[in-house]
Amino acid sequence: MCEMRSSTAGRKTSRSTAKPTRSQAAAEWAPSLTAIRVAGETPAVLRALRRRDVEFGFDRVFVPSLIVDHTELVFRQAGRGGDEAFVIWAGTLADNDAHISTIVVPRSSFSPTHGEITAETSGHVLTSLDARDLVPILQLHTHPRSAFLSDTDAIRPIVAVSGFISVVIPDFGFVDLADVRLWSAHEFEGSRRWRELDVDERQRRLIVDDSLIRVEW
Ligand SMILES: [Zn+2]
Repeated sequence: MCEMRSSTAGRKTSRSTAKPTRSQAAAEWAPSLTAIRVAGETPAVLRALRRRDVEFGFDRVFVPSLIVDHTELVFRQAGRGGDEAFVIWAGTLADNDAHISTIVVPRSSFSPTHGEITAETSGHVLTSLDARDLVPILQLHTHPRSAFLSDTDAIRPIVAVSGFISVVIPDFGFVDLADVRLWSAHEFEGSRRWRELDVDERQRRLIVDDSLIRVEW
């Protein structure tokens, strides 16, 4: 739980300390992501694809590993300064499953002991998703140490609809965020009632798909 890792993706690869030859260096070269598109509250194109016309509810959540990686980065950037961080994952509901496409990073006044997203900011989060016809699926935030749903966390999710999931990540996100066994995940059941997803349910329902696959042979 308290393992601290410095690599962005939370995984380490062993490398020889000997200087690689030119051909080895070429073979190891892979384009790195140096920039991503970041949009504002109002999208370039307003969408109305009727994705939100379905009833809210889902069994499994499929999330691309790029979403996990960038969320980890957001968490660690805040955590480095001793602050908690908060994001919302949004996407599409289809055939009773949720497919995550989007991270919303709202303005927050987070500190190690208390985090807050104002009602006004929550409204802007929902507006930004409405304009894109995207459904909020999960909210995630970090804790300095252990992950649990605090009394404050339980008061009101950003989307107070049964089935919405709130995830708490330990150690300010300095863990392998792709490992759902480390998450504390709770499903909203209405009026401050939450049901915790045990480790088996988390592994069955929260599925990280590889976003980038390098085929070398
Ligand atoms: Zn919390």
